[in-house]
Amino acid sequence: MRATTIHAPFDMRVEDVPDPVVQEPTDVVLRVLRACICGSDLWAYRGEAARQPGQRIGHEFLGVVEAAGSDVTGFAVGDLVVAPFVWSDGTCEYCAEGLQTSCPRGGFWGSVGSDGGQGEAVRVPFADGTLVKLPADAASDDRLLTALLALSDVLGTGHHAALGAGVTKGSTVAVVGDGAVGLCGVLAARRLGAERIIALGRHTARTDIARAFGATDVVAERGEAAEAAVRELTGGQGAHVVIEAVGTEQSMRTAVAIARDGGSIGYVGVPHGSGTGLDLSVMFDRNIALRGGVAPVRAYIPELLPDVLAGTIDPSPVFDLTVGLDGVPAGYKAMDERTALKVLVKP
Ligand SMILES: [Zn+2]
Repeated sequence: MRATTIHAPFDMRVEDVPDPVVQEPTDVVLRVLRACICGSDLWAYRGEAARQPGQRIGHEFLGVVEAAGSDVTGFAVGDLVVAPFVWSDGTCEYCAEGLQTSCPRGGFWGSVGSDGGQGEAVRVPFADGTLVKLPADAASDDRLLTALLALSDVLGTGHHAALGAGVTKGSTVAVVGDGAVGLCGVLAARRLGAERIIALGRHTARTDIARAFGATDVVAERGEAAEAAVRELTGGQGAHVVIEAVGTEQSMRTAVAIARDGGSIGYVGVPHGSGTGLDLSVMFDRNIALRGGVAPVRAYIPELLPDVLAGTIDPSPVFDLTVGLDGVPAGYKAMDERTALKVLVKP
């Protein structure tokens, strides 16, 4: 089969690799129908996250089961399924409490020895604890398939941030980050009943999506000017709830600055850079809470799936460029240069 591999920073290739086969009785082999490139894939692309030459890449995909091991009970050949961005056994105490990202037998797609999602097929370990079945007829609905793909990462991650921050009916929410996760944070906050959603961003194409997803206000300023603008919109108080979806020192500092005293921050931006941007003494003095982390999207898919199927929420607008497998290297370049928000891959 053909799959995307990373050889060095800015050196993505699409190569012939061995076909995945069932190795363990709990495995399935999945033919990929849709995959995509994630903002977090860019850290490897830019050389800020180490990878071995030739390592696979991609952690967001859905597709059709092509083979199943003898112990797989939840899925059969021909089933349409979506995969969360980590696999998990579904039987341990962490999986039981909905923290599949801490599953001791789990793993991250594209880690050494595993398949990545930006390819033609993937071996899925612990299929029963990992995959979620989708209605068969979704396979013929191109827009719906695209929306369903967001369940593998960005929609569940936006939801995790909104939950972590404590979004409730009537909340005033500010969202730091205008990438796909930040935009899905807007969607998740609206779904949870937020009354006011302030999106921080300066790219019209992205803030237009934020408005379509439910943002009531847009703040284009950055840094201290952003803080002043958010305070002006909130009667000088700041937002009860802040979603941080970038992971830089600057974005975390802004998140703290725009939060209301006694407010809370839900953070899902993959932390990178030397410091955190967090000043605990400021958070202490102002009673600002922080909650979040890597999102256990497997726990959220059953709850979010009906809303995506019903069209109550439609995250598909975050995908603004579509490529075939050969177009994946160019897709990375476009996302790195921010000429594309999120790239959809049709292998
Ligand atoms: Zn587990």
